[in-house]
Amino acid sequence: MFKTLTAPPQDKIIQIMGLYAADTRPEKVDLGVGVYRTEDGRTPVMAAVKAAEARILQAQESKGYVALAGDAGFHAVMRGLILGDAVAPERVAACATPGGTGAVRQILEMVQRLTPEARIWVPSPSWPNHAAITGHLGLAQVDYRYYDADAGGIDRDGMLADLAQAQKGDIVLLHGCCHNPTGADLSAQDWVDLAGVFEATGAIPFVDIAYQGFGEGLEEDAQGLRSLAARVPEMLVAASGSKNFGLYRERVGIILAVTDPGKPRDVAAAMLAHLNRQSFAFPPDHGARVVETILTDAELTAQWQAELDAMRSRMTANRRALAEALRAVTGSDRFGFVAAQRGMFSLLPVTEAQVAQLREDHAIYLVSDGRMNVAGLTEKTIPQVARAIAQVLG
Ligand code: PMP
Repeated sequence: MFKTLTAPPQDKIIQIMGLYAADTRPEKVDLGVGVYRTEDGRTPVMAAVKAAEARILQAQESKGYVALAGDAGFHAVMRGLILGDAVAPERVAACATPGGTGAVRQILEMVQRLTPEARIWVPSPSWPNHAAITGHLGLAQVDYRYYDADAGGIDRDGMLADLAQAQKGDIVLLHGCCHNPTGADLSAQDWVDLAGVFEATGAIPFVDIAYQGFGEGLEEDAQGLRSLAARVPEMLVAASGSKNFGLYRERVGIILAVTDPGKPRDVAAAMLAHLNRQSFAFPPDHGARVVETILTDAELTAQWQAELDAMRSRMTANRRALAEALRAVTGSDRFGFVAAQRGMFSLLPVTEAQVAQLREDHAIYLVSDGRMNVAGLTEKTIPQVARAIAQVLG
């Protein structure tokens, strides 16, 4: 079976992880993989997570299976965290998945099953796995204009003009906050305008939110998604607990399908549980249990929020410091967008050859499209990175 086959292309983010690990230069700087890092380069377990794990270890008396859709308590806390009171709980079908990736995959599986003719509208650019999963499932993808690289912000007119072409039943993928890879987010008005597009076209929004709390704050980052949920009849949400709870390897994810109450909600819930059964049966429980433990305890919630606030502040400070250092070395404001953008990523206006040059000549690792993880910067490396970027970009 393997003799006649060739290996699949490697994901460009996974590829960069391997190259970085193999580099022996002590001054190497990893701005590639999308993992939060402290000033000393660690991705620690959050204290609130440790405390929740200690409680679980004490209290848990069974490792028996839970349910195909995961634990109802986890559903409830995640629904509250993400949707707030934007929609009645009776309208929401929830289903736990292995990570946010699992949520994206299972949602698209459901779309393929229910409406295989639907087109998937994906922002240009987007997290590469969106296109990979869409293609893997054989769904038709249409890219819509999103990022204006010259302005370092959103191409609003292009986005709205493209999405006006969506048809009833098409799926429009949106990033809830902290757009990956650009860091350019939708404004409150953009979300309102998009709601108008969904009302006019009958297309269905699919919001991928993997960084809630990394942008402006937990509530602020969900505002747009909530305002949309309050207006449209149906909406799909894929959420991840990897970043904001630091639970990367535990694979915490959830699908929230907003439907009409009653039969539609029950059908969606049953379909999602059924699809979990075919893919992996039961979703992982430990990370979900940690999230539930934190969010059902006021003290742990406060501790977790303080830790999350500190992570966000560090990323915002790094953005400001890098933009300032770049202003100092280039004498121009052409990288000012780095300070204005939000979340873990910004997209540098570089060619693949320049990314290779940054890696080979300066030991600075970016994803090949120019995506930079601002959490990988430190006070010490910011001047080194700014000088290298200025030199390579000319
Ligand atoms: N969506 C987006 C936009 C992401 O950036 C990520 C993380 N890289 C995910 C989903 C899924 O993350 P995970 O599967 O690790 O929870």
